Amino acid sequence: MILEASIIPAIVSSGSRWQKRLVGWKLGKKLHTATRDHQMAHPKLKLATQLRAALYARFSNDVQNERSIDRQFADLEKAAQRLGFKLDKRHYYCDRAQSGTSLFERPGLTRELLGAAAKNEFDVVLVEQTDRLSREQADTHWLAARFKFYNTKIFTPAGEVSALQLTFEGYQNADFITKLAGRVKSGHNEIARAGKIAGKKPYGYDGVLGKPGECVINEKQAAVVRRMFTEYASGKSPRQIVQGFIDEGIPSPSGAHWNYQGIVGGSETGRGLIHNRLYIGELVRNRFTNVKNPDTGRRIVRKSAQDDLIVVPVPHLRIIGQELWEAAHAVRLARQVQMAGPGGYKPRPVLPRKSYLLSGLLRCGTCNGQMTIISSALGGRVGCSSAAYRRTCNHTKTYHLGTVTNEVIGKMHEQLTNPEFLKARMKAKAAELAKAEKEGNVERVEAQRKLDRLNLQIARLVSAIENTDAPVKELMDSIKAKEIERVGLQERIRLLGAETNVTVLQPTAMSAFGKSIETLAGLLRRNENDPACRLALSNIIDCVIVHPTPKKRPYELSMYARLSAIRGIELFPERRSHQQIVAAEGLSRITVEAEPR
Ligand SMILES: [Zn+2]
Repeated sequence: MILEASIIPAIVSSGSRWQKRLVGWKLGKKLHTATRDHQMAHPKLKLATQLRAALYARFSNDVQNERSIDRQFADLEKAAQRLGFKLDKRHYYCDRAQSGTSLFERPGLTRELLGAAAKNEFDVVLVEQTDRLSREQADTHWLAARFKFYNTKIFTPAGEVSALQLTFEGYQNADFITKLAGRVKSGHNEIARAGKIAGKKPYGYDGVLGKPGECVINEKQAAVVRRMFTEYASGKSPRQIVQGFIDEGIPSPSGAHWNYQGIVGGSETGRGLIHNRLYIGELVRNRFTNVKNPDTGRRIVRKSAQDDLIVVPVPHLRIIGQELWEAAHAVRLARQVQMAGPGGYKPRPVLPRKSYLLSGLLRCGTCNGQMTIISSALGGRVGCSSAAYRRTCNHTKTYHLGTVTNEVIGKMHEQLTNPEFLKARMKAKAAELAKAEKEGNVERVEAQRKLDRLNLQIARLVSAIENTDAPVKELMDSIKAKEIERVGLQERIRLLGAETNVTVLQPTAMSAFGKSIETLAGLLRRNENDPACRLALSNIIDCVIVHPTPKKRPYELSMYARLSAIRGIELFPERRSHQQIVAAEGLSRITVEAEPR
């Protein structure tokens, strides 16, 4: 619905009385405030031109159930009718079981709804309460700014939400979460002080039916705990202990694979079994706090402040004798000093781990699991992660990373620039296309999720530039890094979409591809850390399988290229400039220094 005229007469009816009013339109769709107020005051009035509304519903935890979404929609539909909005089933958006404290992982809101709002597909967003949009103040404002830019009004059944109301409610919503978290915590503390355990019982214990919070020792698991402490104190390594458990088919605490980290994991603040003082009859609460990283939405664990700690003696839950506990911890301390020096472990800085060119591309030839860096000596050695950390795979050989990398680049260069090879591969692979499509879908969803996250991060950074005195250059560098990743992902999503359409291989496409590969191989040999090259490589190579070979024998690698990559893929997709990124976020007014080359 696009109205060109600036003023359009519309007729509204109010019972027996007829009124002729002028309804002002701005930008083809904005309704004049006076008319809207009138409409609010007389809900039965029908405007000649209805506002189009989108509905948004969300429920966050197990307290509210799946039906909550349907109920929210039903209530919103009633409200929409009363407010005289026009609804369209295509514009019902929801996020199931997503928390309101973060915008991450809420595709219904951040992708679909905002995406449709950007295309001017509706005029109003109707939500039950403003807290459905977000409980985080900064996010509420971020959203409000977007909606304002798209000329979309926010309504609740009570009427339009004003900027002031949004600010106030945003504060209230954030405050509610803080208070709720406080209440939950003090409730749990109360339970702990009574010597009870709220929620899931730790390994070695069972709950008591009909007596919430109470625990009894699970003798079977307690035996495993005793054995673990005894073996550890006697000098066995965590890996050896875990191997013993696996060999005997003893189920792990989580029900998944045994992992030696589950025994000693994370030093003092760790959650490894060896740190659990419940085994010596001490109930300790608030050892850690969960905090959410505002940039990524991910939870991280931190050691709590000392005065938060609650320690309650629960002698009836003791599994390990004091002597054994102390012996095991003496071993642990000695090993810690041996590995990290007298100062003990230094906490890792809050930075992502360093990744390498083939990060995420190497797979184990035995179990098809991920290969990871096992040791950083001599430029790094990679090995099967299941074999190294969980002992669920017998592929224990490790490989020199540099050799594997060179081998992969060489192989890519040799094979992917050879037209005969390409033709043969295309033919052989054609039959597997149906299968590939199925898997591609899963991967595409995953890639799309990542892309959403990136878009949001970029948007946040842009809005940070607008609202901060911090040096713009650093933020811009951040944006640039994310932009590189974003275009790579976008290209991947496009490719995954095109995967099934591969039929004929055009000679021109093939030679163009060969040239791109030449360029890429050349660039990689010069600097394998170039982020653009890395993305290009991950767009071509699906995975590299590392087959187990006997000691001292040459490596055996098979490389799987992406089918569609052969068909004229854009290896170096065009990145948006800073100005374009900023303009796309609707903030073109800030000026940016020239892009450094
Ligand atoms: Zn493996």
